[in-house]
Amino acid sequence: MLFAANWKMHIGPGEARQFLDRFLALDAPRPGRTVAFFPPAVSIEAVAARLAGHDHLSVGAQDVHWEPQGAFTGAISVALARGAGAAAVLVGHSERRHVFGETDAETGRKVQAVLAGGLQAVLCVGEQLIERDEGKTRGVVERQLRAALAGVEPSADLVIAYEPVWAIGTGRNASPGDANEVHGAIREVLADLGLPRTTPVLYGGSVKPGNAAALLAESEIDGVLVGGASLDPESWAEICAAGG
Ligand code: PEP
Repeated sequence: MLFAANWKMHIGPGEARQFLDRFLALDAPRPGRTVAFFPPAVSIEAVAARLAGHDHLSVGAQDVHWEPQGAFTGAISVALARGAGAAAVLVGHSERRHVFGETDAETGRKVQAVLAGGLQAVLCVGEQLIERDEGKTRGVVERQLRAALAGVEPSADLVIAYEPVWAIGTGRNASPGDANEVHGAIREVLADLGLPRTTPVLYGGSVKPGNAAALLAESEIDGVLVGGASLDPESWAEICAAGG
């Protein structure tokens, strides 16, 4: 199981060290469970240093540019993320797609760059509320998967995160059964693309200590991607203890 914390634009290097001191005091490692932190880029190095020697804990970047270098003010490349200690990258988070206007094609270029750079790609997909209401969930998720994963090798280090946009940061979340059904549909698309059905598929969207266990009990849900509730070491440790 994979528990991924998306800290978004919160927690600088000093706070990250304090957070991890507290989290490490609360967390009991479990076989088969990995916890990944996705801090802001400025905190990746501090998180990597604090996690050294803890094999079940890792750090990643929230976003990268697909180009290896160049005049892209504010962006970081895969190599820069890796150099800071990142082992993975979130790609196509809904805030990248819907706040920054990232397209399916750009998301695909980022997946290719991350994998070519030897890091794990955590590809985020999910429908907006209007799309769900119009019964388009499967179609949207399938379009996002096909656009991002064309040409990806079956051996790729890939994770999918299903995050319905209407559930992110809203306090609303998909029912475990609904999420499980979409995860099943994601696996069908993966298989059709020649990718392993065993690719981990995480659920994200207002996961909290109170609902994590029910989500993780579903057969198709391999872990969670968590924003708000991962900003507090107590609630994050509680979530990471769920689903055992
Ligand atoms: C996220 O940022 O990926 C997320 C799921 O946020 P939240 O848990 O706050 O809904």
